[in-house]
Amino acid sequence: MTDPVLSLTGVSRTYNDGHPVMALRPTDLGLAQGDHVTISGPSGAGKSTLLNILGLLDAPTEGSYRINGVETRTLGEATRGAVRGQIFGFVFQAFHLLAGRSALENVELGMLYGPHSPRRRRQLARTALERMRLGHRAHADPRQLSGGEKQRVAVARAIACEPRVLFCDEPTGNLDSENTAGVLDLLDELHRDGLTVVVVTHDHEIAARGRRRLRVVDGVVSAW
Ligand code: ADP
Ligand code: MG
Repeated sequence: MTDPVLSLTGVSRTYNDGHPVMALRPTDLGLAQGDHVTISGPSGAGKSTLLNILGLLDAPTEGSYRINGVETRTLGEATRGAVRGQIFGFVFQAFHLLAGRSALENVELGMLYGPHSPRRRRQLARTALERMRLGHRAHADPRQLSGGEKQRVAVARAIACEPRVLFCDEPTGNLDSENTAGVLDLLDELHRDGLTVVVVTHDHEIAARGRRRLRVVDGVVSAW
C-alpha cells in the first residue's frame, strides 16, 4: 500500500441537533506522510471534529476528503472501517483499557477484528509494548499502572498493527506533567521512526512541539 496523503478540499461539518452548528468551516488541508502535526485551539473550537473527519470516524457535511486520491465520501461504512483499521491508529484522552486483563491482552484485544492469528497478535503486542518501554509491565493489570503507563499501553494498542498515521486527541489530558513529557517523547520517537503523528491539544506548549502547527478557532483552521 502506498503511503497515505490526506487531502481535505472545502470540508465543513455542521452538527444538527435542534439547531445547526457549523463546527468546522470550509477547510482545505493536506497532510503528507511523515508529518508531525499539532492541532490546537480553545475548547469547543472544532479540533476533535477535524480529527474525527481525518480519521474517518466522522464524515464531512460538505466538501471532499481524499486518501491517496481516493474520495472517501462515497465509501460505505465497511470500507471506511477497513481503511481505518489498516492505516490509522487512535489515542484518546481516556485510556479505555480493560481492568482484569493484562497490558499485553489489552494491546492484543485491539487487533481482535484484524487479519492476524492469535500468535501473531501476541508478537505484535509485545513489540508495541517494548517500543513504549513497557516490556517489563506486559503482565500488569491496568489498575496497577500509573496514568502515564496506561496511556503508553493505549499507544501500544494503537500502533501494534503498524498504522501509517496515528491520531491523538488530547493524549495527555489526564496526565501530570512528568507523565505528559514521557508520553510526548515517545510520540516524537514514533514520528522519527516514520509514523505520521497528528496530536490535538488545547495546551500551547504541547502544540509548539509539532513540526507543523495548526490552530482552530471557531471552526476556522489556520497555520501558525
Ligand atoms: P474541540 O475538540 O475543539 O473542543 P469539538 O470539535 O468537539 O471541539 O466541537 C466543536 C463544536 O461542535 C462545539 O461547539 C461542540 O459543542 C459542537 N459539537 C461537537 N460534537 C457535536 C455533536 N456530536 N453534536 C452536536 N454538536 C457537537
Ligand atoms: Mg475535543
